[in-house]
Amino acid sequence: MIKENLEMVEANIQSACKRAGRDRSEVTLIAVSKTKPVSDIREAMACGIKVFGENKVQEIRDKTAEITEPLSWHMIGHLQANKVKYLPGVACMIHSVDNVKLADEIEKQAAKHDIVMDVLVEVNMAHEDTKFGISPDEAADFVKEISVNKHINIRGLMTIAPYTENPESNRVYFKGLRELKDKINAMNISGVHMDTLSMGMTGDYEVAIEEGATFVRVGTGIFGERNYSK
Ligand SMILES: *Cc1c(COP(=O)(O)O)cnc(C)c1O
Repeated sequence: MIKENLEMVEANIQSACKRAGRDRSEVTLIAVSKTKPVSDIREAMACGIKVFGENKVQEIRDKTAEITEPLSWHMIGHLQANKVKYLPGVACMIHSVDNVKLADEIEKQAAKHDIVMDVLVEVNMAHEDTKFGISPDEAADFVKEISVNKHINIRGLMTIAPYTENPESNRVYFKGLRELKDKINAMNISGVHMDTLSMGMTGDYEVAIEEGATFVRVGTGIFGERNYSK
C-alpha cells in the first residue's frame, strides 16, 4: 500500500509543480513516519524515499538508532529546550523554532558539537490557540533576535495550516507565509537568507506547492491513518 500511496503522492506533486510552473526538483517530500513502525519506513526506503519527518525526540532517536542507512531526518514537532541536546547528529533540520529559549539552547548544543544546525521558524499563520508557532506579525523581530546565533542557520519558515476538508481555504496561509519570507529577506538581516518554506500536509500539499512550498510534510497520505491508542 505504501508503494501505491507514494506513487499517487508523487504524481500529485508533479501535477502541482506543473500547474505552478515550478521544477519538480524545487520540492522535497518529507515522509512523516511518526507513530509508524520501522518496517513501514523500510518499505518507503525501498521506493527511494530518503527524507523522513518525526515529531518526538524519543522516537527520532529510537528510529535513527535502528535504521543506520544514510537518510535525512527532520524534527518537525514541538520541541522542548531540554531535549535539544539529543538532536545534533540525529536531525538535519529543526522545523519548529518559535521561542528564544529554544533557539538559545539549539545554539548552545550546536556549538558544543561544532556544527551549524539548520532551523525553520514556525509561524502560526491562522492564529489558532491550539497551535504552537510565533504570530506572523512577530516573526520578523523574532528572526532578527535569534539571527545573532552563529551555530543556527535560519533557512526559512514553517507553518501547520488549520485542519480542513477544503484545501483551498488554506491557500491564504501558504501565500501569507511565502510573502512573510520575502518580506523578512528584504530586511537584509545580517546572516539571514531564507530559501525554505515547509508547508502542506496530506490534506493540502498540492495547494502549498502552488504557493511555493519547498518542503511538504506528508504522513497519512503515504503511511495511512495513525493509531495513537497503541
Ligand atoms: C503529523 C504531521 C504532519 C503530517 O500530517 P498528515 O496530515 O498525516 O500528512 C506534518 N507536519 C507536522 C508538523 C506533523 O506533526
